Amino acid sequence: MDMQTSFLDRLFESGLLIDTGIDGLYGRSGQFEDVIAAFERLIDTFGGADGAEAMRFPPGMNRAFFEKSGYMKSFPQLAGTVHSFCGSELDHVSLLQCMEVGEDWTKGQEATDIVLTPAACYPLYPTIAKRGNLPKTGGLFDLQSYCFRHEPSKDPARQQLFRMREYVCMGTELHVTDFRQRWMDRGVEMMKAVGLEVTIDVANDPFFGRAGKMLANNQRDQNLKFELLIPITSAANPTACMSFNYHQDAFGTKWGLNLEDGTVAHTACVGFGLERIALALFHHHGLDVKQWPASVRKALWG
Ligand code: ATP
Ligand code: ZN
Ligand code: MG
Repeated sequence: MDMQTSFLDRLFESGLLIDTGIDGLYGRSGQFEDVIAAFERLIDTFGGADGAEAMRFPPGMNRAFFEKSGYMKSFPQLAGTVHSFCGSELDHVSLLQCMEVGEDWTKGQEATDIVLTPAACYPLYPTIAKRGNLPKTGGLFDLQSYCFRHEPSKDPARQQLFRMREYVCMGTELHVTDFRQRWMDRGVEMMKAVGLEVTIDVANDPFFGRAGKMLANNQRDQNLKFELLIPITSAANPTACMSFNYHQDAFGTKWGLNLEDGTVAHTACVGFGLERIALALFHHHGLDVKQWPASVRKALWG
């Protein structure tokens, strides 16, 4: 706990992260952003030849798609919705009165059609389903988005608004599990290139409640999720900086993603936690980028 506080404090003192008064909501300095940009270019060099279709969605998604995704069944504790004032002039008067006397002014806010994106790939599946059947070669997509998760923490590696770079693969079981394995190998290689020691381990998502325990156990037993772990705030509990998820045909069935021959597509996604990777670099090589090992600087900036 002390370690966490002090790394966060040092990040604030150095200006790399900017305190907003909210745990897990930080501004970032130009230097911090430069590290993320450099690492994303490294991702491009590893993944560039695969011919993924790049798409960028904003950090909010269509609420109807979010509802259909089943996110509220699995992770209600993490979700964030966008609400707005939709009232009359009279309602406005009482809103301001409410704020004036320090009462809860948010009660009158109404849900909009937008929710905050929980993972970069969520807006993709309905988008691709709308196109019709996938070609024989399947689909490969390159995504990056700010994501929201309501998990306030003093651990700088657990933020509420953070960026996820993802590759998503759609195709046959063999096709998408090969894709996932390739990125596990690449992940290890990339982190080695920037001087980070990693381990890969089987993992599970934080499914809510008692029924969630079973889902989590099932996910583990079937090796559906792996994480690439790097010690950041704790050596005993290293942080997931990448995840490798195989959804079987669950998303294919849910969204109606079919292959050319009419069979349901299997899907897999590989996610990079960009802030976490930057934090791992600062933690291991120091807060002054100029002092980083030459090999690391070369891998990032050529
Ligand atoms: P954790 O196990 O640490 O809660 P996760 O398994 O929930 O992470 P995923 O849902 O697989 O993470 O998200 C993909 C990637 O996004 C993770 O590998 C991680 O690098 C990053 N990530 C997830 N949650 C956060 C967060 N709160 N702050 C910063 N990065 C995050
Ligand atoms: Zn994903
Ligand atoms: Mg996890």
